[in-house]
Amino acid sequence: MKYDVVVIGSGPGGCVCAIRCAQLGMKTAIVEKYDVLGGTCTNVGCIPSKTVLDSSEHFYNANTLFEEHGIEMDFVSLNFKKMMERKEDVVDQNNRGVAYLMKKNKIAIHKATASFKDSHTLVLTADDGSITEISTSHTVIATGSKPNTIPGISIDKKRIITSTEALSLKELPKSMIVIGGGIIGAEMGSVFARIGTEVTILEYSDGLIPTMDRELGKNLRRVLRKTGITVHLGYKVETAQMVGDNVNVTGKNKKSQPFDFTADYCLVATGRKPYTKDLGLEKIGVQLDGGGRVITDENLQTNIEGVYAIGDVVKGPMLAHKAMEEGVYLAEKLDGQKPFINYNKIPSVVYTWPEVAGVGSTEELLKEEGVNYRVGKFPFKASSRARVSMDTEGFLKVLADKETDEILGIHVIGARAADIIATAVTAMEYRATAEEQADMSYAHPTFMEALKNACLDVHGRAVDM
Ligand code: FAD
Ligand code: NAD
Repeated sequence: MKYDVVVIGSGPGGCVCAIRCAQLGMKTAIVEKYDVLGGTCTNVGCIPSKTVLDSSEHFYNANTLFEEHGIEMDFVSLNFKKMMERKEDVVDQNNRGVAYLMKKNKIAIHKATASFKDSHTLVLTADDGSITEISTSHTVIATGSKPNTIPGISIDKKRIITSTEALSLKELPKSMIVIGGGIIGAEMGSVFARIGTEVTILEYSDGLIPTMDRELGKNLRRVLRKTGITVHLGYKVETAQMVGDNVNVTGKNKKSQPFDFTADYCLVATGRKPYTKDLGLEKIGVQLDGGGRVITDENLQTNIEGVYAIGDVVKGPMLAHKAMEEGVYLAEKLDGQKPFINYNKIPSVVYTWPEVAGVGSTEELLKEEGVNYRVGKFPFKASSRARVSMDTEGFLKVLADKETDEILGIHVIGARAADIIATAVTAMEYRATAEEQADMSYAHPTFMEALKNACLDVHGRAVDM
């Protein structure tokens, strides 16, 4: 069998790349080793985590907010099994959606593990051990990432778990230690705390979600604490092991004092690592960087002609939409077009409630780069829309160049931040100034008015505060 393009991996990067290649008339195949399509995002990432975040939020709100709305219930109880079944159903719907798109675009699916024989031949090994070979003009490595752990901790997948197992638990943990206060720690910690688990987050850095604008993490800490989560910053975990039926976690804080925690579950959320196992990259000499990521050039091509890589397996943020952008970019490059990805304008969202989102430069980065900037800020407590739904937590911050007024970064923690950030991306893609963005009409009352007010505040013109 001979293809124009073979994509290895059916995650968001691989599937989107294959669809765009097929749209452009290339004979395309996907090789996926799992029974279902969709990769990390659909099966053990974005989709299942957002589903349980949604369910747990309803439960939490029923217990904490409904009464103030005048909705009185004698008893609210959680059916954890049903909540997890709904998650499986949503994942299944998405799996079927992806399979439909492959069929619609006439993309061949090979259910097997792919490995390079040479740069234009792939060996496919099916679950039953049968082997076939396919040849291809172009190969796209879209094999994604897997959970990482730290030295001293081995994941037993039972009590010492990663997000993958946490999303398929059969019982509700009474207590859970979360190692890492990054995105997974904040999201999964929120899920379990909202439905009754005693959650403790141990984070090595001096703030939560440390890769985002640091002010967001400070506010998020307060939000998580209100949900009942205990957060310890500057805590470096060194070991996690079973002691009887419990997990014991030890390490040292930033003053070098030892700490020791015990819980019935421990979620290791210390980042993810690129996944290149079984690909046989060494056979064709594809170069990896020190972190195990496939090295690519500006065309997303590896050092081997005709072999490309996209998504979590290459440099850049490990985000589904970044993988998708790269998938489209690569397909259009192969078609001879001149696509473009603006990596500085890829937004990041944490789906806690309120949500956290950011795009562009953080204040820390602007300071580091010596850029002169102005700050405009708007707290949601001054928003009438936020008061309507009791969502007054958080703020929106705009960073604009002092000389040109161009918006350089927008960072928000607040209700519907995930949606607000889309407008922020548009503004920045069109290189809007804070003044231009402020001078547009925003529907009232909306959360989006926070963006207008923060832009006005850049020049001291905010009217709502
Ligand atoms: P993946 O989705 O990892 O897919 C790679 C595929 O390749 C897998 O299906 C794998 O089986 C297959 N594969 C690997 N090796 C081979 C081989 N040799 N042969 C055949 N097949 C192979 N991102 C967001 O943007 N928003 C979110 O809300 C979000 N939430 C997340 C929540 C969690 C809990 C996690 C873990 C991640 C989340 N992410 C989120 C990150 C997102 O899931 C990843 O960035 C995204 O899935 C990366 O896509 P990808 O196509 O690069 O690879
Ligand atoms: P992360 O990099 O966001 O956070 C890991 C955290 O663990 C860091 O804050 C780090 O300081 C901390 N840490 C590392 N070693 C430690 C130790 N020994 N003790 C205590 N803390 C330690 O990684 P993650 O939360 O595991 O998420 C992995 C990736 O998945 C992210 O890069 C993200 O891109 C992606 N993801 C995205 C979303 C989303 O877009 N909403 C959701 C989930 C995951």
